[in-house]
Amino acid sequence: MNYKAPRGTHDIFGTNALAMSLLEQQARVIFKKHGFEEIRTPLFEDAALFMRSIGQTTDIVEKEMYIFEDRKSRKLALRPEGTASLVRAFIENRLDISMPAGRFFYIGEMFRYERPQTGRYRQFHQIGAEFLGNPSPAADAEIIILAQDLLFSVGIKEMDVRVNSLGCEKCRYLFREALVKYFCSVRDLCEDCVRRLEKNPLRVLDCKTDSHKFTGVPRISDYLCDYCKDSFNLVLSLLESAGCNYTADEKLVRGLDYYTRTVFEIRSDAVGSQDALVAGGRYDNLVGELGGQNTPAVGFALGSERVLLAARNTGFFDSFQESEKIFIAIADQELFNEAFSFAVKMIRNGLKGGKDISVFGPVNGKSLTSQLKFADKIKAVKTIVFAKTEFENGKFLVKNMKDKTQVEVLIDEL
Ligand code: AMP
Repeated sequence: MNYKAPRGTHDIFGTNALAMSLLEQQARVIFKKHGFEEIRTPLFEDAALFMRSIGQTTDIVEKEMYIFEDRKSRKLALRPEGTASLVRAFIENRLDISMPAGRFFYIGEMFRYERPQTGRYRQFHQIGAEFLGNPSPAADAEIIILAQDLLFSVGIKEMDVRVNSLGCEKCRYLFREALVKYFCSVRDLCEDCVRRLEKNPLRVLDCKTDSHKFTGVPRISDYLCDYCKDSFNLVLSLLESAGCNYTADEKLVRGLDYYTRTVFEIRSDAVGSQDALVAGGRYDNLVGELGGQNTPAVGFALGSERVLLAARNTGFFDSFQESEKIFIAIADQELFNEAFSFAVKMIRNGLKGGKDISVFGPVNGKSLTSQLKFADKIKAVKTIVFAKTEFENGKFLVKNMKDKTQVEVLIDEL
C-alpha cells in the first residue's frame, strides 16, 4: 500500500520550505517594528467557538470545518482561521492586563474542507495580526499598511487594495432591510441564496451563482450613519497620507460574520482565480459576544502559500543565502574518529572569519572516490580530506570541488 498525503494537503520542502521560513522570519521582524507580539494557540478548539464567532451561515461553518469528537465525546474542530482562537485566548488569559498594548500576531496552519485548486488547500498557512482595544480608524489604517509591508518584504509591488465599510449594527439593520426587500424582487434565486436571505441577507451578496442578477442592488454607502461615514473617510485619508493606493469597493462583503465597519482585501493578478492574498477588517463586537469585556478590534490574515505564489517572479526566490557546504572525507579509515570529532568542532565553532557554512561529517566504510562523488552530489564547495601522512604532520588536504585542485592546510589554520 502506497500512502499519499490527504487531498488538499502538501509537503513543503526544498526552496519552498526556505521561502516559507524566510517569509515568516521577515514577518516577525516587521511585526516587532509595529509593536506586535506573538501568540500561539491550539490547532483545535471547541467547535462551538468557531460556529459562534464566524457565523452559522458562513461557508466555513456550513461546509468547511474539520469537526471530530474526542474520546470523551467533546465536539472539537481543527481551526479554520485564527481570529476566534485569539479572541478566546485574549479573554481566557486576561491578556488585556498582561499584554496591554493589545497587538498580537500568529503564524500557523489552518484547515478548511474546500475544493482544492492552485492557491486553495485544505491545510494552509496564515500569518495574521489582531489589534485589540483601539477603536480609532488609525488602527484600521495601520493594519492595512502592516499587511502591505509583509507583501513588500517578498518583493510584491503590484497589488490591489480593496476597502469597504459594512457600518455598525444601526447602519447594517437598515441596509439588511433594504437588501431583503430587493432580493425578494429578484426571480429564481438559487437554493443557497433563499436560505441565506432568511438567516443573513448580507451573505447573498457573496453568491457566485446569482451575483450577475443583482443589478441595482442597494449600496451600503447609502445606509452608513454619520459616525461610520466619518470613520471610513478617515481610514481612507490615513491610507492616502501613508502613500497606500486603494480602491473603495462597495461590493466587498467578506465571508465571515463578525466584521463591523472597515473590511479590506489585498489581491494580486499573479495568482490566478484565488487572488486574495490578505483579508481582514474590524470586529468590534466579537470580544463581547464571546464573553469578554466589550473591546474594539481590527485584524487581518495573510495566506502564506498564495503570497509565495505571487512572489515567484519578484526575485524573492533568488534571494536565499545558501550556506557553503563543506564535506569531510577520510582517505584512511583509521582516521574516522578524528575526522568525526573535527566535523563536530567545525559545526560548533564555524570557520575563522565567521563564514556561513554547513558541514557534512565523514562516512565510514566507503572508498575516497565514492565519498568525493557524494560531495559532488550535494554540491559541496570544498572537501577536507583526512589522510594518514598529512594528518601525522598536523595537516589535511582541502579540495576545491569546482576546479578539483587541492592544497595542504595546517589543521589549526581553519
Ligand atoms: P480568510 O481567513 O478567509 O479571510 O482568508 C485570509 C487569507 O487566507 C486569504 O486571503 C488567503 O490568502 C488565505 N486562504 C484562505 N483560505 C485558503 C485556502 N483554502 N488555501 C490557501 N489559502 C487560503
